[in-house]
Amino acid sequence: MDKKAVLEQIERNIKTCQKCRLCKTARNGVPGEGNINSEIVFIGEAPGETEDATGRPFVGRAGRLLEVLLKEIGYKREDVWIGNIIKHRPPENRDPLPDEIAACEPYLGMQLKAINPLLVVTLGRFAMNYFYKDGKISRDHGRMIRLAEFAVFPVYHPAAALRNPEMGGVLKQDFLRIPETLTKIREGYETTNGNEKQAPGENDNQIGLGL
Ligand code: URA
Repeated sequence: MDKKAVLEQIERNIKTCQKCRLCKTARNGVPGEGNINSEIVFIGEAPGETEDATGRPFVGRAGRLLEVLLKEIGYKREDVWIGNIIKHRPPENRDPLPDEIAACEPYLGMQLKAINPLLVVTLGRFAMNYFYKDGKISRDHGRMIRLAEFAVFPVYHPAAALRNPEMGGVLKQDFLRIPETLTKIREGYETTNGNEKQAPGENDNQIGLGL
């Protein structure tokens, strides 16, 4: 099966998923959308009200801010792939529960395996912790974490930035570092566990988990 067919099959499975309680209260599954050949993907937490109504990720207020930030670094939303760790909306936008995260985990894993991006930008702490359990968003935002298959770049969630202008400023600064981060990865200057080629002085802002 080619990549597109694999992703469409995963989408069908998400739309009919009953692995946790969230399908009972949500209107639509939100599998994710965009350019499946993109080098960079953006992963949020869970659908909100507008996403639940439309079946599309990041189409409410947080999504509009995401689009503004993407434009700052030269992308339109359709240039990249956008998804979430949780595919059905938690009631009243409450935090997802550990068993809901665990039930949904394989979907994003399969989607990322098919898309095979160079860089995963995680939006907010839940998305960061999906990849990096010990991560702390206030400490780790804006620095690259090198995993075995791709690199992860945590940033604050756009919805949090809408509530807190100071955080909005940090989010924008972190976004502006995404192009240089991608360039470093493309050039092979990323660090992992010291076994890979590494440019002198390039290690300051990265964590190599060597996973
Ligand atoms: N917040 C998220 O984390 N994901 C969405 O799709 C929308 C808002």
